[in-house]
Amino acid sequence: MKIESEAALDELVICHKCHTVHKEIPIQDGAKACCSECGSVLYRYDSKLIDHGLALSLTALIFFFVANLFPLVKIEILGHTQYITLTKTFLSLFQNGFYIVGMMCLFLIFLFPLLIMLLYFVIFAILKFKGSPRLLKELLILLSHLKSWNMSEIFLVSIFVALVKLIGYAQIHMGISFWALAVFVLLDIYLNQHVHISEIWMIRRRYYGKEGTLDGNR
Ligand SMILES: [Zn+2]
Repeated sequence: MKIESEAALDELVICHKCHTVHKEIPIQDGAKACCSECGSVLYRYDSKLIDHGLALSLTALIFFFVANLFPLVKIEILGHTQYITLTKTFLSLFQNGFYIVGMMCLFLIFLFPLLIMLLYFVIFAILKFKGSPRLLKELLILLSHLKSWNMSEIFLVSIFVALVKLIGYAQIHMGISFWALAVFVLLDIYLNQHVHISEIWMIRRRYYGKEGTLDGNR
């Protein structure tokens, strides 16, 4: 198969399971295209994806903001009460000399999840309000690079493990931020699992044409 331009490459879809290359064809709203070799879903088209994505990413960002405002947990040991906040966890790592672990935690469980959610929000907002297709393309590429570095769910699980270990020694009260973080992680998992970048890419092409030509028309 001879590929003449980048736009021609955009018309091809590779099956995630068997790596067979297919030519993309337009499908109806709510329908899905399956691989002719193995039958797995290649892509779907859902016109409500933009509204749902925008609402979910905005909700997740609000919960992330709340998660940073209040204490995650309140721990009482022998009459001493300690409040643990999200920022305090990173600071204590740096203060105790765990610079590499601190940097890794800061990026993997704070900055990347926040940046990814912000990217989702901006991408869906651009699609909703018909913004620049060129910016949208750059953001989608950035999102596909960053997506695999999101480890916020590992953070939530590690808090659970630490709390289970402390249960015998201390009284633990979950704060508002803990539940806000849990909701953020759930929304984050849902978006990452159910919204495929290829589907957003497809909607982009439906809205702006093959090469994002709306820029030239403006
Ligand atoms: Zn296949």
